[in-house]
Amino acid sequence: MPPITLASTYAQASPGEHQGFEYTRSHNPTRYALERAVARLEGSHLTDSDDASFGGFAFSSGMAAISCLLDTLSAGDRVLAMDDLYGGSHRLFRQVRSRSQNLQFDFADLSNPDAIKDAVTDDTRLIWIESPSNPMLKLADLQEIANVARDRGILCACDNTFASPMLQRPLELGFDIVMHSATKYLGGHSDVVAGMLVTGDATLAERIRFHQNSVGSILGPFDSYLVLRGIKTLEVRMNRHCENASAIADMLASHDRVRSVIYPGHPNHPQHELACRQMRLGNNPAGGGMITMTLDTDLEGCRRFLEAVQIFTLAESLGGVESLVNHPAIMTHASVPEKDRAALGIDDSLVRLSVGIETLEDLMSDLQNALDAIG
Ligand SMILES: *Cc1c(COP(=O)(O)O)cnc(C)c1O
Repeated sequence: MPPITLASTYAQASPGEHQGFEYTRSHNPTRYALERAVARLEGSHLTDSDDASFGGFAFSSGMAAISCLLDTLSAGDRVLAMDDLYGGSHRLFRQVRSRSQNLQFDFADLSNPDAIKDAVTDDTRLIWIESPSNPMLKLADLQEIANVARDRGILCACDNTFASPMLQRPLELGFDIVMHSATKYLGGHSDVVAGMLVTGDATLAERIRFHQNSVGSILGPFDSYLVLRGIKTLEVRMNRHCENASAIADMLASHDRVRSVIYPGHPNHPQHELACRQMRLGNNPAGGGMITMTLDTDLEGCRRFLEAVQIFTLAESLGGVESLVNHPAIMTHASVPEKDRAALGIDDSLVRLSVGIETLEDLMSDLQNALDAIG
């Protein structure tokens, strides 16, 4: 195990003659170990070098990671973003960076390959996508987006939080940057908040390293250790998340209290074929651990369901070993303007499940009991 190096500074033999580390905001051995590990998991080719340009960067939160990436852009630059996004990303784009940095954000349904070409402008500098997206679990065709971006010399970045590098590695399909809320599957135990950026491009890596150090929202050594520790079981956990979620999606799809189920691994998902191609665990298609569903009831019925669950915990966040349930309209996506929520289908009876690794039968009966409680 790498030691948790808590030193903020390092002794120098003579001015400028240091031991490889000078000051922990700039570099820290524990954080380096995590940054290298995630860069390797995402397939960055920069991990072999010994210097600071190895392509992985750890931040104090997922939002800090996205902020740092936006800091590499210049005032006035245009960003094309997927319309369905994590609520916090939406808020950062619309309510902070469009004002403080004068960035111009265009939103489009990038799950539709034709929409990408129409939505890209001559000034677009960055394409930002989530796949699967939060909370509607729309997929973007990563290969297709990388091709459009490359043809036009636009950077493209993927928030890979929902899939994790176990299911898909966007860099291998031509993406420039991958971002993670390591708070979720990478950490995996709901006990740390952390964010990551990864690139396979040396020039971009240097630029991100410069901004990470300049802006300073780095991940601390102890938190770096927690994420590293979580990653050791990432593959085992993802296997179980996918297995449990797939069985639960089947059960929900035939339940009369459930109007619709959205799960990339279920044949009724409109992009199931893309999901089978793009999201894989080992040699098999894998739909991930997230399920979104619309209950066949109103807000009050929805509340009865959410208050009745016993093993699922009603809480924000996702990707931990314990199952969580969330009401996007009131909880995670409250900061998305109501008319945008309506356009995306985030209504009062929409519920998002983060399926954990508990015994499947327990999760099934918990959901069935809570669905019965709708009345
Ligand atoms: C949670 C989340 C974020 C934000 O990450 P934090 O670690 O909470 O700052 C960004 N994107 C997605 C998809 C998320 O789920």
